[in-house]
Amino acid sequence: MGIKKVGLNRNIKPQSLVEKLFFLDFMKGLKTTIKHLFRKTITVDFPYEVTTPTIRFRGVHGLRNVDGTESEDFNSWVKKLKIKPPEVGETRCIACKFCQAACPVPELFTIKAKKLDVPEDHPHHGLKVLDVFDMDLSKCMFCGLCTQACPTDCIIHTDVYDLSSYTRKSWVLNKEELSRIADDFIARRGKEKFDEKSNWRDDQKVWPEYDTPRAKAWDGWIPSYQSNYNSSNIKTEVSE
Ligand code: SF4
Ligand code: SF4
Repeated sequence: MGIKKVGLNRNIKPQSLVEKLFFLDFMKGLKTTIKHLFRKTITVDFPYEVTTPTIRFRGVHGLRNVDGTESEDFNSWVKKLKIKPPEVGETRCIACKFCQAACPVPELFTIKAKKLDVPEDHPHHGLKVLDVFDMDLSKCMFCGLCTQACPTDCIIHTDVYDLSSYTRKSWVLNKEELSRIADDFIARRGKEKFDEKSNWRDDQKVWPEYDTPRAKAWDGWIPSYQSNYNSSNIKTEVSE
């Protein structure tokens, strides 16, 4: 098999003398540059500036707690999986592992349920509760499949996107952290209507003056998974 010779691209016309003399191609390129120079900037100077993502943004996950808005079949799922009926404020997770089964990277999940240690005559005897729910977000591709598979609408995406960290350990979130993230997200944006065509908002929210140290303190800074733009309660504690 010989080497196939590739000829000149016949669709490209050679430059004429006038084009060569007056740098017409160069001028065309410059026109595009100048046009974009005066367009509205759509990027932000992160971390000094942050944006508010749309409600449908697939950011850091959260685990929802029972709040009275569960679907009709929630109780039947609880019964089917022999989970202790959760009270308001307790997790909706029934440890069914559907999220893990749907995930292209299932090893990022560690989900375990444990049997309640109660006497035989206790109404909760033989029932289970969620014991471990860890997610290693360093392996996540934020595809959203886990959220679609969840029968109890427990696992959700939030608008938190700041995952920068110097340690891989800090990307592993446990059930308490995930629950706190979901609570925070629902408290801030729970009333917004989910619109799958929504775009990012135009207004860019810049960190207030007092928060600039956080933006500058990259050394040893561990993400606290708070809302990206409501930074009043962001902790700057450093963990291992
Ligand atoms: S978003 Fe996708 S990759 Fe990430 S945990 Fe869910 S299913 Fe897995
Ligand atoms: S699919 Fe939902 S209920 Fe089932 S283990 Fe995952 S988060 Fe929990």
